Amino acid sequence: MEALKQFKPEWSDWCPGCGNFGILNAEQQAIMELGLNLERVVIVSGIGCSGKLPHFMRVPISGVHTLHGRAIAFATGIKLANPSLEVIVNGGDGDLLGIGVGHFVSVGRRNIDITVIIHDNGVYGLTKGQASPTLLRGIKTKSLPKPNINDAINPLFLALSSGYTFVARGYAYDVKHLKELIKMAIKHKGLAVIDVLQPCPTYNDINTKEWYDKRIYKLEEQPDWDPVVRNENEVKDKLKKAIEKSLEWGDRIPIGVFYKNETIPSFEERISQAAPSYYQYYPSSQPIEIEGKLN
Ligand code: SF4
Repeated sequence: MEALKQFKPEWSDWCPGCGNFGILNAEQQAIMELGLNLERVVIVSGIGCSGKLPHFMRVPISGVHTLHGRAIAFATGIKLANPSLEVIVNGGDGDLLGIGVGHFVSVGRRNIDITVIIHDNGVYGLTKGQASPTLLRGIKTKSLPKPNINDAINPLFLALSSGYTFVARGYAYDVKHLKELIKMAIKHKGLAVIDVLQPCPTYNDINTKEWYDKRIYKLEEQPDWDPVVRNENEVKDKLKKAIEKSLEWGDRIPIGVFYKNETIPSFEERISQAAPSYYQYYPSSQPIEIEGKLN
């Protein structure tokens, strides 16, 4: 409990009980436990309740609160300008998979070394709870006059088919588990995404904490589950299994790592091969001073 108090925001205007608090706590703890150089951590957010996350951070990192749906584009620019930075995107399902879905898909082709965290609550919380892209067809939350008539996007399926090389799902009320997923995603070489099931107690009275608690189970506790690609020959098989697993939703909902593949070069490595003079100091495991060294 002491550790959690340390990360309690000094102020916040999120509703009491919001799943965003769990994501904030998990992310702060992950950053601290990894021992990252805080001057080199940048959090980029879009618009929505989740977009306020950089403002509420207790750890002294840099935050950029950008335009609706454009957080991934900003993050890509930041990472390319200085590849020694750890860049994390926080966005809602409406932000990243609605107006920002073009960027969400396109960045998959690049495998750029950033982490994307989706605050997935099925509603546009900041604007009074309209149906967002992940709300299933036929669901009527208390903020909708009629059941949703649109089909839902499956974020994991979309990420897997777009080229993300680390794909996971977390749960906002299991902070310890989510923290470990965030640590894995940050350490992963390449593009990582975590779809976080984030109950919105104010507008989504269907996918509540009680609803999720009955259904969620952990992939790593299943005896035969192995999401790691160890060589290029395994890619097709592991991807197929991850896609199949991403479709499981209903009485049982899996969380954990669905897919992890470090056999594909990151965007930074591809650039460094194509134009060695540009990233002459990359890759490096040590913090490096980029300023003045690029030519
Ligand atoms: Fe959280 Fe929903 Fe309130 Fe937004 S509206 S702060 S997502 S509970």
